[in-house]
Amino acid sequence: MLSDIYRRELRDLRISVTDRCNFRCTYCMPFDEYVWIDREELLSFEEITRLTRLFVELGVSKVRLTGGEPLLRSELQTLIKQLGEVPGLSDICLTTNASRLVEKADSLRAAGLSRINISLDTLDEEKFKRMTKREDLPKVLNGIFAAKASGFKPIKINMVVERGVNDDEIIPMVDFCREHELSLRFIEYMDVGNANGWASNKIVSKKEILERIHDVYPTQDGDRERVSDPAIQYAFSDNRGDIGFIASVTEPFCTNCTRARLTADGKLVTCLFSNDGLDLKTFLRNGATDDAITDVITSVWNKRSDRYSDERLEALNSSEGYNPRRQTKIEMITLGG
Ligand code: SAM
Ligand code: SF4
Ligand code: SF4
Repeated sequence: MLSDIYRRELRDLRISVTDRCNFRCTYCMPFDEYVWIDREELLSFEEITRLTRLFVELGVSKVRLTGGEPLLRSELQTLIKQLGEVPGLSDICLTTNASRLVEKADSLRAAGLSRINISLDTLDEEKFKRMTKREDLPKVLNGIFAAKASGFKPIKINMVVERGVNDDEIIPMVDFCREHELSLRFIEYMDVGNANGWASNKIVSKKEILERIHDVYPTQDGDRERVSDPAIQYAFSDNRGDIGFIASVTEPFCTNCTRARLTADGKLVTCLFSNDGLDLKTFLRNGATDDAITDVITSVWNKRSDRYSDERLEALNSSEGYNPRRQTKIEMITLGG
């Protein structure tokens, strides 16, 4: 089993299948124009599947397809079918904004997709428009219901909470998810990329969100499902569902981070806050053997020393404070959230 310098194994692979997105979420990619990856630079499904097979041989058991908006990549179900044939890969998941799910949910399920996470930050049309710069809330809601109707279970709803923007939507979102048997996960607003104007006073911490919910719907003590799982889960005391927290800023989990990322143009990135990655596509397209590619991945992972969120918390708690612009980062739509 591969291990980095802090003895963290390589277990999970997040694959960005496109950097394009039909939304412009203010906390992720608010710019209309951006230097998009050229189509011929995108990894083909065969290239993605080959790399995934090598990652699985090195210890990965779970793959998440993401982006950008992964449902903008045409024929995604074909990739899912191909990944389903990789020996030893037990879990293929998808993170999506759900705007195209009505058309695609059935075919994704039939292709063998194991699970879906859907991003939704508000049930209010005006706030939705303000946060995504689009008017697609009805499509997203219908996409959620289509995923349920196709048989995906559990469906996780990811909500990024930004102070003064949608923190008044916490209880309405809990109500909605309890009513529709969806598993709601709160994500602390992070300083991903360089475009979102993040500031620490915009974060609503896990502690605060949990207290606000607990006052209305008491919860029981939380825990992680797996030690490397970023989310801490809490069950409601009345047994009507659960909520999760990805508290990357206030309770970082770098110590157990077993995730690698593959960008849509084939770069291996070892942290969400990295400023660069290793170009595996060039190896693929220059005819490298499986052994040669495996050696490169091994050498990158063995040297991995990322612990950005731990360092951020140390800086936030220090007298100097934390400067989110201390280094340029790859945008989240490019490296795959
Ligand atoms: N487009 C898809 C979607 O929105 O679900 C997949 C890609 S998106 C980059 C993956 C996840 O990253 C989403 O759940 C989104 O809410 C989250 N995300 C994006 N920017 C974030 C930020 N600044 N802080 C916390 N989470 C963020
Ligand atoms: Fe929003 Fe996801 Fe698109 Fe980022 S990639 S702008 S989070 S929909
Ligand atoms: Fe993993 Fe980097 Fe996030 Fe830490 S900051 S949990 S190392 S991706």
